[in-house]
Amino acid sequence: MLYSKLFGKTSKTVSADEESINAQYLIRGGFINKQMAGIYNYLPLGLRVLTKIQNIIREEMLAADANEILMPSLTQEESYKTTGRDNMDVLFRSEGHGGTKYVLNPTHEEVVTPLVQRYVFSYQDLPLGVFQIQNKYRNEARAKSGILRGREFNMKDLYSFHTDEASLNEYYEVMKKVYHKIYDRLGLGELTILTYASGGAFSRYSHEFQTLCAVGEDTIFTCEKCKIGINKEIISEQTTCPECGNVDLVEKNGIEVGNIFKLRTKFSSAFNFKYSDAAGQEQLVEMGCYGMGPSRIMGTLVEVFHDDNGIVWPESVAPFKYHLIALGKEDETFEMAQKLYKTMTANGIEVLFDDRRELTAGAKFADADLLGLPVRMIISKKTLEKQSVEIKKRNSDQSELEPIENYL
Ligand code: ATP
Ligand code: MG
Repeated sequence: MLYSKLFGKTSKTVSADEESINAQYLIRGGFINKQMAGIYNYLPLGLRVLTKIQNIIREEMLAADANEILMPSLTQEESYKTTGRDNMDVLFRSEGHGGTKYVLNPTHEEVVTPLVQRYVFSYQDLPLGVFQIQNKYRNEARAKSGILRGREFNMKDLYSFHTDEASLNEYYEVMKKVYHKIYDRLGLGELTILTYASGGAFSRYSHEFQTLCAVGEDTIFTCEKCKIGINKEIISEQTTCPECGNVDLVEKNGIEVGNIFKLRTKFSSAFNFKYSDAAGQEQLVEMGCYGMGPSRIMGTLVEVFHDDNGIVWPESVAPFKYHLIALGKEDETFEMAQKLYKTMTANGIEVLFDDRRELTAGAKFADADLLGLPVRMIISKKTLEKQSVEIKKRNSDQSELEPIENYL
């Protein structure tokens, strides 16, 4: 991508009501644009990051044999009456022609349960996992943490369907591992811990995945030995580590980047979703749900990986790998940069080429630091004399010269 052609440029300032680091850097870098509180536009750079996060999640879901689908955002209010969730305070509602009442889905149990019910009849159709990556709508009371808490936000939601509790438990344990693998690939593995949280009425616990971070809204008590946490909301009933019994728990802050639940038969009983077992008896389907927030993860990455000058993206989700800069006014230097850009791009390497000729070196470096691409590549009269480029990683202060021919 040529920077001159990029829609969404860097800016030095951001409106005073953006308190969070993620919103400040993402807006200043031209990744996102705020439409109103909790509602953001994703510009090309931001969309590239979001898409990479989604694709890592998608790959791991597909590898676990889950089926990708896309459900509608709008649903008839009636479905929420069926499950008794029509008075949730986060619901955005709408009214259509003839007084039809709609809900903008905050999650999709009311859609997926009757959908899967139309295709599953026998124990032979189970277990089954379906997921989607789609925007959710929640009338959140506070939306002050940038894209960590949106009123419209992106979610991967997986739902699993089973003949019995044992099958649900088995799938649930597999998903814990899949989730850890996803956070590893996103660069968050070291910081993200499985956390016991309240489970609602149908299971003692649910499990959250909390990324440890000082600005996280959640308070968790961690067992340093087991690398797990207990959400403060359940600490009165669980004061020791549920895995090793350790009483020496350490209080920390976390950002909830995922949450998995055993729904059991809560939704299948509401919709009377049954299958026939091997003996021909009708039984309620057991269900699990597994949420993960790509847009919140994008904000979390910025909160966790930044310095005073800007973002430091992990390579797996960076919008481009290389930030190519040509210094000086010489045509020769600029032409070599153009050649590098064309060749590398043709070879499938992701390069953002800052092709602005009027800008000072300092301004270009400041933008490179703000955007946070993993590798800065500089070509100047001096490097050209040595047939080299200067390579500097965003997360290091060291730079080194490398032969240009390595990249041509
Ligand atoms: P929270 O407690 O933070 O409000 P939640 O428990 O209501 O979140 P879930 O229903 O478990 O959220 O949603 C699954 C995942 O979707 C969460 O783990 C989180 O990663 C993401 N998520 C939830 N709410 C938001 C939001 N308002 N903005 C961005 N991401 C969100
Ligand atoms: Mg949750």
